[in-house]
This record gives sequence, C-alpha cells and structure tokens, in this order.
Amino acid sequence: MASTLAVAAIQNGSVIDHIPAGSGVRLIKLLQLTIHPNTVTVGLNLPSKSMGKKDLLKIEGRFLTPNEIHEIAIFAPQATINLIHDFKLKDKFTATLAQSITGLLVCPNPNCVSHHQDVQSHFDILTPRQIVQLHCHYCEGVFQKEEIIEYTR
Ligand SMILES: [Zn+2]
Repeated sequence: MASTLAVAAIQNGSVIDHIPAGSGVRLIKLLQLTIHPNTVTVGLNLPSKSMGKKDLLKIEGRFLTPNEIHEIAIFAPQATINLIHDFKLKDKFTATLAQSITGLLVCPNPNCVSHHQDVQSHFDILTPRQIVQLHCHYCEGVFQKEEIIEYTR
C-alpha cells in the first residue's frame, strides 16, 4: 500500500521502484539527478515484502527514455519503472537489459585503449547465472557491474 501512495505522489514523471537496497545512490549518479531541475524524492532501505529492503526514486518532470531504462537495468535488474501522468499510473514495466551499451560507462581498466583514443566506450552485456557482467569491446576485459564507477555523461 505504501508503494501505491508513493507512486501517486508525483504529478508527472517517473518512479523507479524495487531498486536493490544500496543501488539507489548509483542510479542518482547515473541519471544525474543531483542536477535535475525538478523535485527528486529518494527512499533508501525501504521495507519490501519481496526484497527485504529496497531503494526508490521519484523523479518529477522527467520521463525515462528506453535507453535510460536499459542503463538502469544494468545496476538494478529487478527495478520497476512507473510512468505517471497527471497523478495517474500510465505505464508500468520491469527494466530490461540491452545486449550492449555504448558511450556511458567508463572502462575500469586504466590501460584500456578506450581512455586514450577518441572513441565511445562499448560493452557487451553478459548474464551468466543471472549475474550482470560487462565485456569491454576494446580491451576484452570482463567486469562486474560493481567495478564500473565512472560514467561519461
Ligand atoms: Zn576496456
């Protein structure tokens, strides 16, 4: 019930629910929410029946794009995206992974050629045993999502 209320509390925008506890802050950085011009409500370590604890983000005045939702899925694979129009839930879906991601994540390998050439980073997304891994197109390194700490936007 609490989550229904939380969803209804914004007029127009996006609610990202069921973020694994601890990943909310990462999504704030990924989506650059600290410089978003409108209200962002952050819930950390909220009780969740299915997850134990979860994080939740409410973003007034911003509708997440399909690309952004693919990015979110890397760090919060079970996240639920709610799009709100005029206080009503207009669309709700689970974030889905893309097969690859270009130009957002910085390769954790300091020797990777992607740092030294004028190229966009490019990772193939692998999911062995439901674990998200990122395979760098340039250095062939395979990284856990937790190893990615920088973004290019
Ligand atoms: Zn690399």
